[in-house]
Amino acid sequence: MKAPLARSIDTLKQRLREYTQLNATLAILQWDQEVHMPEEGADERARLLGYLSTLAHEKLLHLNDGNILTSLQQAEKNLDKKTATIVRETWRSYRLGKKLSSAFIQELTEVCSRAQHAWAEARQREHFKSFLPHLKKIIALKRQEAKLLGYKHSPYDALIETYEPGMTTKELDPIFDELRKSLPSLLKQIQKKQGKVPLQKILGTFPLEEQKRLNTYVAEHMGFNFKAGRMDVSTHPFTTNFHPKDVRFTTRFAENNLLYSIGSTMHETGHALYEQGMKAEHFGTPLTEAISLGIHESQSRMWENNIGKGRPFWQFLYPKLQKQFPKPFKSLAFEEFYRIINHVTPSFIRTEADEVTYNLHILLRYELEKDLIEGKIKADDLPKIWNKKMKDYFGLSVPNDRLGVLQDVHWSAGLFGYFPTYTLGNLYAAQFYAAAQKAIPDLDKQLQQGQCTSLREWLRKNIHVHGKYHTAKSLVQRVTGESLNSQFFIEYLTTKYDELSQR
Ligand code: MG
Repeated sequence: MKAPLARSIDTLKQRLREYTQLNATLAILQWDQEVHMPEEGADERARLLGYLSTLAHEKLLHLNDGNILTSLQQAEKNLDKKTATIVRETWRSYRLGKKLSSAFIQELTEVCSRAQHAWAEARQREHFKSFLPHLKKIIALKRQEAKLLGYKHSPYDALIETYEPGMTTKELDPIFDELRKSLPSLLKQIQKKQGKVPLQKILGTFPLEEQKRLNTYVAEHMGFNFKAGRMDVSTHPFTTNFHPKDVRFTTRFAENNLLYSIGSTMHETGHALYEQGMKAEHFGTPLTEAISLGIHESQSRMWENNIGKGRPFWQFLYPKLQKQFPKPFKSLAFEEFYRIINHVTPSFIRTEADEVTYNLHILLRYELEKDLIEGKIKADDLPKIWNKKMKDYFGLSVPNDRLGVLQDVHWSAGLFGYFPTYTLGNLYAAQFYAAAQKAIPDLDKQLQQGQCTSLREWLRKNIHVHGKYHTAKSLVQRVTGESLNSQFFIEYLTTKYDELSQR
């Protein structure tokens, strides 16, 4: 490498480090806001976060001072692959960041901040109309954002790009078509076979401290390093990282339902393992950043569902549950317990949906938000269209907007284009898991014996350590031998529920 090039790279890395440190500071404050902050601190915290976000945006734009990023980007073919990744991904963030002015970002932030208040109130009152003016403003701004960012085919593509680089509606449409075709009939088949499941048999009274102990055990068992991270409690569980050596996740508890916290803990620990699995030596560069939200979600969903709702894992954990919580589990046979936790039923709320119906909830949202951003439907008509789709896909009549169009925070927060990453996560998870089963032939047996190490190391080696070195597309191809394909997910569900119904 020529000397001026090497100097530019050093400068870029130094600037990136400062930018990352500022973002880590923001993340600490956001984590604190959700976990510890007293209620009356909210106003000042919002101002502080707003101020630091502006600084971070400035730092992002300064990355190219003296045109060093431009010149490195032009010389990309002379760089080694890791450096080329750093330049490629930094250029991508810089280019996108530059297209949005600070004034635009500030307006969007303020509109969303007010909209979230209005949304929470509207949801409480089951009154869509009081949220509607806010939603209209957000949609207008997001359409403007799409224009500023630029797109080839659909304005919605520009918004997906923020969360799932490289993904477009042209690729997503056939994926969702496939799910629209296969899931409703699969749902009917499963429902017909599963019969009546006594869901209340897993309910009881579970003291919080004992639940915490069990959840800590589960996270540790999966391989979460508590010396390089923490588990806390928040209303909406999330994972955040400041550095691979300091990864925080939160979970939530319900006193009467132990499985509620275990699902949430396994999900977030899956996210957290991805963050802990990245290389600290590359901190501050895209080599220590997740590829996309979809890939991140694949890590959480694999642990939560493919493993955490699977037979082998529970064959190991259930006896411990029976011992620690004899009431209600001692008298509940394993098979019945397994049936209960894998019970499938159409329901109104996305976050409470089972593995089979979950993606139908996302399909519905994908269709709606794509049409909104493309200007094909009006925000005024959302409840009507939402309710009709609920009837078509789930056979359910929505009784009120709280259980319908007002249930998710995303649109009020301006997160258009985010929902598809949940389904992508489920599909990637099924495809990665199939590859892991091939690579570790006795995986089921290991999980039955309480061994998660081989799987975790396989995920680490194949996915976590690389950061953004691969794109989502190249990673999936490399790890599984083919491009993203929803058949893995459909096959996973079909096999699982066939096995269940034959017992
Ligand atoms: Mg998640």
